[in-house]
Amino acid sequence: MPELPEVEVVCQGLAPLISNRKILAISYSNKRLRKPFPRAKMYAHVEGAFILGVRRRAKYILLELTSGTLMVFHLGMTGKLGLFPAASPRRKHDHLRFLLDNGRELRFHDVRRFGSVEVFPAGELRRGDPFAGLGPEPFSAEFSADYLLARARGRTLPVKSFLMDNSVVVGLGNIYANETLFAASTHPETPVNRLLKMEWQLIVKLSRIILEKAITMGGSTISDYENASGRPGYFQLELAVYGRQGKPCPRCQETIRRTVIGGRATFFCPDCQKLPSPQ
Ligand SMILES: [Zn+2]
Repeated sequence: MPELPEVEVVCQGLAPLISNRKILAISYSNKRLRKPFPRAKMYAHVEGAFILGVRRRAKYILLELTSGTLMVFHLGMTGKLGLFPAASPRRKHDHLRFLLDNGRELRFHDVRRFGSVEVFPAGELRRGDPFAGLGPEPFSAEFSADYLLARARGRTLPVKSFLMDNSVVVGLGNIYANETLFAASTHPETPVNRLLKMEWQLIVKLSRIILEKAITMGGSTISDYENASGRPGYFQLELAVYGRQGKPCPRCQETIRRTVIGGRATFFCPDCQKLPSPQ
């Protein structure tokens, strides 16, 4: 599943290639994505519009269009957004195509069709933020030790589930939550109300370092993913604990364990990441 770094890489890759280009025509397959295709809004607000910019919010790819419309993609499990010469052959799972005024086509490809595309015209955006329920971005100033301390007060859920809650912070998916907690030497089952401010500071700092590194390296290729230029990323070589159960801890050589927390595979080193003693 594409996570925050992969989505960021797609946005950064596409931005210079499609900004200031006009969308001349839209084509779509008759296959349904996770949400119904917003046909009327597409023709009213997207066709004929210029793309002003590309940016990311959580794991959404936002295309800002003239007239203040926002077109929002989510890659789901297997979605890919890439740019191709308009004349190049269509692939089987190309569900959406946007013909641009430079002879290129922006194509949304999705084998499993858990991805989505939505259109928010300016009027709708004025009535309410479509992302109102989402927590802060990991790179924002709002994501701080004080903020996490306040959100964790009185709660006893495991820190791993807390960090993967999109209303707490967005984009720290399963891979990066596992890697951050290992880097911070925090046991993933630690109840959040037991963490001290300095531990939260470490989690904030290390999550940013790990995400930044993944973005720099072009995103992970653990799942079926290509970045906008079609080259695979290489971050999977750098993972310390994720998917490494039974292998030696890179720090102490103890065997990495796998458990399940909140229904998600969790990997940790029992020696480096100890649970705090019971109160
Ligand atoms: Zn270890």
